[in-house]
Amino acid sequence: LEVNGLKKYFPISKGGRKGSVKAVDDVSLNVYEGETLGIVGESGCGKSTVGRLILRLLDPTAGTIRFNGLEIGAMSQRQLRKYRKDLQCVFQDPFASLNPRMSVGEAIAEPMIVQEGKSRTEALQRAEELLEKVGLNRRVQRLYPHEFSGGQRQRIAIARAISLRPKLLVADEAVSALDVSIQAQIVNLLGELQQESHMSYVFISHNLSVVRHISDRVAVMYLGRIVETAEKEALFGEPKHPYTRALLSSVPEPDVNFRRERIVLRGEVPNAADPPPGCPFHPRCPHAESRCAIETPAFREVGPGHYASCHLI
Ligand code: SF4
Ligand code: MG
Repeated sequence: LEVNGLKKYFPISKGGRKGSVKAVDDVSLNVYEGETLGIVGESGCGKSTVGRLILRLLDPTAGTIRFNGLEIGAMSQRQLRKYRKDLQCVFQDPFASLNPRMSVGEAIAEPMIVQEGKSRTEALQRAEELLEKVGLNRRVQRLYPHEFSGGQRQRIAIARAISLRPKLLVADEAVSALDVSIQAQIVNLLGELQQESHMSYVFISHNLSVVRHISDRVAVMYLGRIVETAEKEALFGEPKHPYTRALLSSVPEPDVNFRRERIVLRGEVPNAADPPPGCPFHPRCPHAESRCAIETPAFREVGPGHYASCHLI
């Protein structure tokens, strides 16, 4: 997946004046086969909007998304149907994504009937196999979503999402509503499924520990932009951007001998309808210089495969 210059501006009007919320502002990223790209950032940074744009649940204001070399804006109906099959999603609330009046077997079978033209019997048969694959008993297929725990429902949502053998799965806060021990189980399940099928993941979360565990590469978003991206080891080991450093300083390190100094940022995240000029992080940056308020730093390579946008790097 190749995303270039992606923008999503939501029009607003305030006191008769028209403006826009720049939810996503010039985002470029790649996701390679079989890898997991983690997207992190605080709530409202635009990471979910990026996920929704990739899934075509939203139309971009500008920019291109290519999948296997084909631009999705230029796809034929047939290619789009294939794209919708190849890209699946798992969201935070598994209960909301499952129809309460459908047995879980039917819920998992449905996409295979609708999108692949499988017969009901065949699809239900495959749903049983999928339930087993995600660690549930085949016999639970007759039960309804309310009869399961949150973790089990997320397993069901995953079974449904992988039923069409997607190439890429977008997981948006997919484990955030679950207990920590269940989060680990679901993350491990996603890892096993990836090993088997070479699916790619875009794993969107505000939870840095989970992202660190699951990702190969990580992109950090702030105010609609990616401010830093690198291989996981480089990003967590040698974060370059002042925002990334502040964000990481708030999570406990797994290695007790390694301690990061806690960096507390001043102020709040600015309103995306009125982002600061220059470097969007400058009002809160502990290292800001005068030019930071005027010149927007370029997003450039600061180490092998490591990109960041800051004048001081
Ligand atoms: Fe901070 Fe300036 Fe770097 Fe922006 S460009 S992150 S304000 S030092
Ligand atoms: Mg979100």
